[in-house]
Parts: sequence; structure tokens; C-alpha cells
Amino acid sequence: MKRWKEILAAAAVVSVLAAWPAAAAEMNPIQNDWQNENLGPGVARWVDESGNVSEQTGVRPGAEEEQLEVPAGPWQDVEEAQAATDGQSQEQTGTQEQSQAGEETAAAEEGGEQDPAAAGDQSREQGGEQEAAAGRVIDPARPMVALTFDDGPQPSVGNRIMDCLAQYNGKATFYVVGNRASSHAAELQRMVAEGHEIGNHSYSHKYFNTLSTAQIRQEVDRCADAVQAVCGVRPVTVRLPGGNKNATVLAAVQEPIVLWSIDTLDWKTKNASKTVSAVLDNVKDGDIILMHELYQASGDAALQIIPELYNRGYQMVTVSEMAQYRRGGWQNGQVYYSMRP
Ligand SMILES: [Zn+2]
Repeated sequence: MKRWKEILAAAAVVSVLAAWPAAAAEMNPIQNDWQNENLGPGVARWVDESGNVSEQTGVRPGAEEEQLEVPAGPWQDVEEAQAATDGQSQEQTGTQEQSQAGEETAAAEEGGEQDPAAAGDQSREQGGEQEAAAGRVIDPARPMVALTFDDGPQPSVGNRIMDCLAQYNGKATFYVVGNRASSHAAELQRMVAEGHEIGNHSYSHKYFNTLSTAQIRQEVDRCADAVQAVCGVRPVTVRLPGGNKNATVLAAVQEPIVLWSIDTLDWKTKNASKTVSAVLDNVKDGDIILMHELYQASGDAALQIIPELYNRGYQMVTVSEMAQYRRGGWQNGQVYYSMRP
């Protein structure tokens, strides 16, 4: 009888162990972050390496199987699962930020930008000489736009975008998530080699308005360290995950903060023609355009947008080039939505 009890007890231990991986997956703090922040409690949006998005209650499909093979590190699931993009909170803030972006004075109210007149002719001439020496000429009198792609690096999309930009003498800015940097070092190195700009989109895409000052700094600095480690260049500007900010965020991020004036909502529609229209129907001189590197549809859209912007006479510049030519450089701690002439 005693022996039978021992067997029962052992069986109970085995069943607990068998159930543990699934329980661990559901308790992963990163997964819980995404479930709560994107779509409401208990609902997750996961994006896989192919850019496919699934939205469902609970954990992402296949997560339990992967947990059996790979112990979950604190960043593992964000790395593998392509933690979802700027998501719902972007949608919530989009209207407000678009209206702010419409006028330069709105940015100024944010603690915003300098008077455009403050960008002196002298700095423009100096910048022009520097660019000419580097084989790239930007004419500040001609229209320019800054294409920005968030949430990468994602080579299957980013390399297509860079191939296209190379044909039209365009440069873009890629706001990357730091915990993806070491896995996609070659793509980041290509960005640097071809004159694109790498921006800081945090280390793990946590929304800064939910973090303490110390946590915000850690997210920013850790991303910068990760990017610098693989390509030797430290990002200059920060794009806030989801665009979310509050007084703590604005105090903690001393770097220039670059948001956007055109939100394509590409993460939501995953429709290339809608993304193309969002840009080409609205684009103006000095716009900063938000797209996402995660989605094949966004790459498809970029391949239509870039030639047409070129045909319309737009110079496709990095955000730092735009700041140089339109504002005489960056101001730390300021928020930029657009840089009109
Ligand atoms: Zn993002």
C-alpha cells in the first residue's frame, strides 16, 4: 500500500512537469506585455518572421512547442515572435499627432522645434559642401521627404527597400528594435555602408509611458549599445514605441525624438495599395512618413512609393539630413513631426 502511494506521488510530479512548459509560456512577461498593451487584456498580436500577423486570445500559435525546445529568455519571444508593432496605441494617438504634425507651431508647443528661419544659410552651405564631397548632393530648395521604417531589422523587407532606394538615389531611416540587432547584423551593416540612418526604437519595444525614468533610459541606451556593437554607429534620434509619451518620457529621453506627419497605418491594413495611397495622396515637402519594416506589404508599397516620389521631384533623405538642411541640425529633447521649408 505504501509503495502504491509512492507510485501515485511520482506520477503526480511527472504530470506537473509535463504541464510546466505551457504554463511558463503563458506567464512570460513579454507576452503579457503585448497582450495587455496592444489589443486589450488576454489578446495578443504576434507577427512571425514572414510578416504574418495573428490576433487571438492567449499565447501565439506554436509558442508552447517552441518553449519545449528553447528555454524562454527574457527577450527570446520578442526576438522570435517579432513582437507586434506600434499597434493600437498608435491608432489611439494617431489623430492627435497628425493634427499636431500639420503645423510647425504644434511641434513647438510640444517643446518643439526651432523657428525654420533659425536654420541659417551658412549651415546649409556647409552641409551642401559636405554632401557634395561625399558624392551626394541635397538641394535644400527642392522638396524632400524622410521615409522611416520601424520595428526591424527585417532583412526580407529591408533589403528590398534598400535595393529600390539605391536606384533612385534615396536614403531612408530605419528605427530598429535593439534586441533584433545582433541577429541581423549584416542588414544593419548594409544600412550604414549605403548611407541610410539607423534610429533608436528602444531595446524591446516596451511603451515608454509605462516605464520609470531608469527603465526608459535602459531601453534607449541598451538599443544604442546593441546597434553600435554590430555596425559601429550609434543612433542619434529616438522614435518612441507606439509614439507614446508623457512628461516622464519627455524628461528621460534627452535625444531628439522623431515622430511622424504621415501615418500609413501599414501595420493595420497590411495592404500595399492603401499604404501607397496614404503616402502619395498626402505627401508634402518636409513630411516624415511612418511605415514598418516587418511586413512584406510595406516593402511592396515602398517599391511603388520610391519611384513615384522621385518622379515628383522629391529628395528622399534621412531624418538627420532633413534636420540639417531644414533646421540647421538637431535640438536635444525636442519632438519633431515634420520639417517644412
Ligand atoms: Zn514600433
